[in-house]
Amino acid sequence: MTVGILAVQGAFAEHKQKCVQLGADCIELRNHSDMHAHYDALILPGGESTVQGKLLNDLGMFDTLKARIESGIPVFATCAGMILLADKIENDDKTYLRSMPITVRRNAYGRQLGSFYTESDFKGLGTVPMTFIRAPYIGSVSDEVEVLAVVDNHIVAARYKNQLAVSFHPELNDDLRIHKMFLEFGK
Ligand code: GLN
Repeated sequence: MTVGILAVQGAFAEHKQKCVQLGADCIELRNHSDMHAHYDALILPGGESTVQGKLLNDLGMFDTLKARIESGIPVFATCAGMILLADKIENDDKTYLRSMPITVRRNAYGRQLGSFYTESDFKGLGTVPMTFIRAPYIGSVSDEVEVLAVVDNHIVAARYKNQLAVSFHPELNDDLRIHKMFLEFGK
């Protein structure tokens, strides 16, 4: 299995390491022509969604990425990646790929709690480590979205068809279970 990891900005190297540990091949998607390479699943890493959104347009990657996601390829989006997938952003007029019927709130934890670590239940996996860095949360979801994790009454992980989105950074902790689950739904 080959995972295409969006590598225009942000924490893509850490995702690559996790996928390699789990025995998957990875390619970094950096420009328009990379988008047409062969990959069976996609990862959209954390970073800065405004920068990533702009680069996707400037590099001519946006339309192919959106089409691949809408074709049903498994997608795992973390943090800024989740913002890119969201249909709506509560506190921003901009939207990006809009492939997932969720509304997110950017930088939702304010300044003081901008970054924090917790351990909490993730549906089907038990307690998992969760590192939040200036994270968004999901304010609302449509009926077809499955909620996978809630922290302090806010949704922080959800799945819609082929798309898995989490607010936190599983690639930064020493735990492979969420990546493993994702690679399995790609089979
Ligand atoms: N605050 C970032 C944004 O709004 C997301 C942070 C992250 O990906 N760790 O895009």
